[in-house]
Amino acid sequence: MKVLAFYPDRCVGCHICEEVCSQTWFKVTDRDKSRIRIQEHDDGSISALYCVQKGDCIDVCPVNALTRNKQGVVLLREKQCVGCLSCVGFCPYLAMIYHPDQSQPFKCVACGNCVDECPAGALEIVEVETPSAPGPQA
Ligand code: SF4
Ligand code: SF4
Repeated sequence: MKVLAFYPDRCVGCHICEEVCSQTWFKVTDRDKSRIRIQEHDDGSISALYCVQKGDCIDVCPVNALTRNKQGVVLLREKQCVGCLSCVGFCPYLAMIYHPDQSQPFKCVACGNCVDECPAGALEIVEVETPSAPGPQA
């Protein structure tokens, strides 16, 4: 499946990826509307929060709005989502994101736009094996 990979040793903390992401999906530059979150820690280390397409949330959604596509990417079908936010509370990666400007949450779909703009080569779209469960394949 297609998934975003982050290499913390290369990341320079410029946050360009967050700007690119919010521009891509919301046409604004707003970190709170980015599907990737770069976190700088007190010890100088850097980490990133984003969806790793594991798909455990698929079975949490009460209306089957979450599904995995042929590329293995977990998608939120907006027409079906009722905005209960169960997936937001569930996600152990804090990768299903809610913003009060819209009723439905959002997540990384491995579009790769941030990869193209990262000046440090710290992001990549990679192919990994799709987890066998849970949830139906779309
Ligand atoms: S664009 Fe690249 S270098 Fe900049 S914060 Fe994001 S991952 Fe790190
Ligand atoms: S917020 Fe939408 S996608 Fe998430 S669990 Fe609720 S209905 Fe499903």
